[in-house]
Amino acid sequence: MDPGGAVNGGEEPCRNSERTERIRNMDARSKQLFEAAREHIPGGVNSPVRAFGAVGRTPRFIESAKGDRIVDVDGNEMIDYVCSWGPGILGHAHPRVIKKVQEACEAGLTYGAPTQREVELAALIAELIPSMEVSRLVSSGTEAVMSAIRTARGYTKRDRIIKFKGCYHGHSDGLLVKAGSAALTTSVPDSAGVPADYSKNTLVASYNDRSSVEAIFRAEPDGIAAVIVEPVAANMGVVLPEPGFLEFLREITLQYGALLIFDEVITGFRLALGGAQEYYGVVPDLTTLGKIVGGGMPIGAYGGRREIMKMVSPDGPVYQAGTLSGNPIATAAGLETLRILKEDASVYARLDKKAEQIASAVRKAAGESVCVNHVGSLLSIFFAPGRVRSYEEAASSDTARYADYFGYLLDRGIYVAPSQFEAMFLSDAHTPEDVEYTCRVMQEYFSEKKGARG
Ligand SMILES: *Cc1c(COP(=O)(O)O)cnc(C)c1O
Repeated sequence: MDPGGAVNGGEEPCRNSERTERIRNMDARSKQLFEAAREHIPGGVNSPVRAFGAVGRTPRFIESAKGDRIVDVDGNEMIDYVCSWGPGILGHAHPRVIKKVQEACEAGLTYGAPTQREVELAALIAELIPSMEVSRLVSSGTEAVMSAIRTARGYTKRDRIIKFKGCYHGHSDGLLVKAGSAALTTSVPDSAGVPADYSKNTLVASYNDRSSVEAIFRAEPDGIAAVIVEPVAANMGVVLPEPGFLEFLREITLQYGALLIFDEVITGFRLALGGAQEYYGVVPDLTTLGKIVGGGMPIGAYGGRREIMKMVSPDGPVYQAGTLSGNPIATAAGLETLRILKEDASVYARLDKKAEQIASAVRKAAGESVCVNHVGSLLSIFFAPGRVRSYEEAASSDTARYADYFGYLLDRGIYVAPSQFEAMFLSDAHTPEDVEYTCRVMQEYFSEKKGARG
C-alpha cells in the first residue's frame, strides 16, 4: 500500500495541497477501529491522551514500529516523537532487546517466584543510580510512586506530602491533585471518585516557587513525610527546574526531617544514565522509575538507601506486593535496554544534539510566538509567548494553535504528542535524515503561519 509518501522512499515532503489531502484521508481503518473501540472501551482507548481529544483528530491505530518509525493500520509510516511516552529511548524493536525478550519467553512467562534477572536489574539500578541502594520492582510508574510515598510515610511516621502543581505522579488516589485555586493547606481531587479524605494529606506547592514550599513547611513543621517532585517537570509540557530549585528542595527537606522523592519515571536513564539526580547533582532519599527501566515492558521501581527501604515488607511494616512484579519477560527487556545504554557513553550527547537541532530550528522559524524548552532528549514547544517556568505559564498556551500544528505535522508523517502538555521525546534511533526532515516541516509550518498573519 502507498504509505502516503510522507516520509518514505526519499520523496520530497508533501507541499502541495492535493498530496496533503490524500494523506489526511488515509485513516479510514483507524476511524473504523476507533468506532469499534468505543463500543467496549471507555472513550475507545486504554489511556485518555491516546484519544486525540485535545487535537480534534482520529487516533491512529498502530500496527507495528521499528527504529524511529511507527506504522498505522492504514499503512501510514510516521516518524515517532512520542516513543510510547518515554520508554523508547533506543527506538522501537531494538534487535538486542527483542532477542532477549524472545529468549525469555521460551522459558515461560511468569512464575511468581524470584529470578536471577531481578537480582541483576536491582544491582544495575544501584550501580547507575547510587542513591537507589535497595529497590523494589513493581509494574508501573503509578505503583512505584504510590509505594514510595507509603514507604516515606512509614519511615517518617508522618502523613502529609507536598507535590507540585502540574507534576504528574500516576493516577493513584492521593496524587490526583493539583489543587488549582485551593488554599495551600487544602487539596481538592482532580478526578471524580476520589474522596476528599484521600487527598487531604496532599499539599500542593508551585513548581520553581520556593516560597510556596516554605509556607507549607512553616505551617506544618512536623507533619510532612516527603516532598515529591519531577526533577524536570515533563507532564505539563517540559518545564525545567530553575537553577538552585532542586538544591533548595534538598535543603528544606533535610531541615524539616522530611524525605525528598524524585519521580524519575521519565528522567531516569533519559537525562543521563544516573537520571536527573546525576544531571543536576542533587541526591534524593527515594527515587521512582518507570518507562525506560522496563525497556518497553511494564516495570516500575522505587528505591533508596537501605535504612529507608528496610521499612518495606517482608523486612519491615510497609506492605507492598505484586503478582507480576519483577516479571521475567519485562526484566529481560529492561536489563538489556539499560545495558545497551551503559555500553555507549556517547548516547546522551547524541540525543541532546538531535533535540537541540529541533529546538533551534523552531526558535529560529517561530521567533517570539512560541517558547521552546529543551533539556537532553526532552523538549516542548509551548504556543505561549515569554518563558514557561510554571504550571500557570504552561497553562497559558494556545491549545488551538497546538492542535493546528499537530495536524500539520501528522499530515506530513510526523507523529508528536496529541497534546500541548506532553513532552517530545528523542530516541537514539532517530536518524539525521528524519530529524532534518522534521526540522524542515516545522520551519515550513511556522513560516506559513507568519506569512498568514503578516
Ligand atoms: C508516566 C509517569 C508516571 C506514571 O507511570 P505509569 O507507568 O503510567 O503508571 C508517574 N510519574 C511520572 C513522572 C510519569 O511521567
